[in-house]
Amino acid sequence: MDLKSKSLRFTPKRIEALARLGICDTDGVLSYYPFRYDVMNTDSPEHWHLKEKVTFCGEVVSAVRTFRFGRNRSSSKFDVAAYDRILHITIFNRPWARQLALNQTITVTGIYMGRNNVTAVTYNLKNQDEAEPVTPVYSVREGITQRTVRDSIRKVLDVCSDEIKDQVPVRFRRAYRLMEKRESLEKIHFPKSTEDVMQAQRSLKYEEFLRFFIAVEIMKNDSGSTAYKKPKKFDHEKLKKVIRALPFKMTPDQIAALADCIKDMESTHLMYRLIQGDVGCGKTLVAALALYACVLSGYQGALLAPTEILARQHFSAVQNLLKDEGVSAAVLYSGENAQVKNQILEDLSSGKIQIVIGTHSLIQESVKFHNLGLVVADEQQRFGVGQRRALRGKGDRVDFLLMSATPIPRTLASTLYGDMEISTIETMPPGRKPVITELITENSFRSVLNDVMSLLRDSRQLYVICAAVDKNEEYDARNVSETTANLKKLFEPEFRVGMLHGRMSSEEKQEVMRQFAENEIQVLVSTTVVEVGMNVVNATGMIIYDAERFGMSQIHQLRGRVQRGSGQGRCWLLTDSKDENALDRLNVLAATSDGFKISYEDLRLRGPGDILGTRQSGIPDFILGNLIQDTGIISQARKDAAEIMNDPDNPDFVDILDSVHETARRNANYAD
Ligand code: ADP
Ligand code: MG
Repeated sequence: MDLKSKSLRFTPKRIEALARLGICDTDGVLSYYPFRYDVMNTDSPEHWHLKEKVTFCGEVVSAVRTFRFGRNRSSSKFDVAAYDRILHITIFNRPWARQLALNQTITVTGIYMGRNNVTAVTYNLKNQDEAEPVTPVYSVREGITQRTVRDSIRKVLDVCSDEIKDQVPVRFRRAYRLMEKRESLEKIHFPKSTEDVMQAQRSLKYEEFLRFFIAVEIMKNDSGSTAYKKPKKFDHEKLKKVIRALPFKMTPDQIAALADCIKDMESTHLMYRLIQGDVGCGKTLVAALALYACVLSGYQGALLAPTEILARQHFSAVQNLLKDEGVSAAVLYSGENAQVKNQILEDLSSGKIQIVIGTHSLIQESVKFHNLGLVVADEQQRFGVGQRRALRGKGDRVDFLLMSATPIPRTLASTLYGDMEISTIETMPPGRKPVITELITENSFRSVLNDVMSLLRDSRQLYVICAAVDKNEEYDARNVSETTANLKKLFEPEFRVGMLHGRMSSEEKQEVMRQFAENEIQVLVSTTVVEVGMNVVNATGMIIYDAERFGMSQIHQLRGRVQRGSGQGRCWLLTDSKDENALDRLNVLAATSDGFKISYEDLRLRGPGDILGTRQSGIPDFILGNLIQDTGIISQARKDAAEIMNDPDNPDFVDILDSVHETARRNANYAD
């Protein structure tokens, strides 16, 4: 439900506050789970430890003595009879405590100071039973109170109560004694005990994982990997000739990955394979050679890239690789002019073009192939399931190869990717130096200026990455426009500064890219559009503003841009965040350049959405569940998801299946 809905009676101010927390509808309110709980210690005094936070209920048994000192400062002292003893209470700066009456019931929360002394933090005149023993604590931002969040949740729970549907099939819910959805939401936000919290979390986590594995199963069924196809046969000598002509030797893992692909293509089964490997390990070459093998066996091949920049880059790599082999290749993207596009479309449907590389514009209705045999999706997590399927649907029994630059350990991969075949490229081409990464706890250029100057004077080039394009009140991060203007003042005329972002027209982008590639521009201020693939060997420096706003894998990808050649890459992560978790993440990045480790950490901290592309297939990231810790729930949910998929007409399963499909449909047409 929309937060503007009349029945909620939220003020514009409240709606705006919620929006600042990233909450935009009632589902968002309900799944804004507490990040921790404050638990009241209701043990009796003989179990109290020094300096421990304690709560107790008793009767006021003395007059209150208040002492004032300084301006507006005071301390009040009184005695409370609780349990079997008299407790001496001190409370600071609450002069109104004087009004406490003798024999009044009071609940005090405070710090135990020993010898029956308690320094109170707060007190109220309720009985302890009426007070909340477990208080949820929400993550909030400046100007937004816990109370606002709590009241909003209360309101939504009350108003939308009938709309909260329980989708976990009854048989599983009973078997594992899970709460109903409504109840678990109530208990996670308004618990009466820690037991409530645990039960609610367990129920909600199970649902998250169950939905997740159903979505994975759906993806899997989509793959058609069990279908029979005509094997692709080709002359291996021709492929070897191209490999021999390379200016370098392929790494053993590249060779093994290529061999895996060829084995699949030559078999009677459809290929459904993932090649995973760290940034810069050389996946493009493997894909290009697989495409060539496909052409040699008489079929057309297509390579799907997430951005235009990357599509064009892959195109020139493929052309360069196959220039002497008489293969005709083309690149297609929406910014291309209509006449050129029409010619490409014609040549694709006649079969004249053998390899096409493009963005999601390849998926459009108007694109028809003569005989498509292989589809490669680069940076697969950026495409929705629907998009991948649409492209494969353009041929009959098309082999399918996915590429991912966020590699994860094998056991985890096999959990997550179901029965997809996986080739992992672990070794990097020789001579690659890890990027030296430094964390700078200040969001300004100042402290890196000297380093940057010497890098530029060394004739190297620099990327400067910002989280936003323009000044934006909602999102107060450094932006490309202002940063460009500032850096121009700083560097020009000695060095030229250019900018790049997704809102520029495709000609503008192309022109800036060319200027950077040809070193007419030395400093490129950009959004994350350079994240995937961009390959400018002479650029060896990168500054990332507001680094805490990026995911770990994303930063790792970004810094991969300055590790393209033999020059030593350097990356400066700038942040003024004080958030410990954020700083921990950034420190991991500074300390390691192992992509496997980084995706593992990312997975642990942020969930699999970025890595799997499940965000696009309609699965929210796990909010409560943790792929690495909740192994028990995971293996159960996975089994149950398989059971559900095997019996999709079972009325017990219809609700959850419909709902997963519905979310997937809503997100299927996601594009970058
Ligand atoms: P990614 O796996 O991140 O997509 P790329 O395929 O873009 O990496 O490769 C990065 C760079 O490494 C390219 O410039 C490519 O030409 C080069 N490269 C690929 N394989 C090798 C190799 N075996 N030896 C040396 N350089 C290689
Ligand atoms: Mg790549």
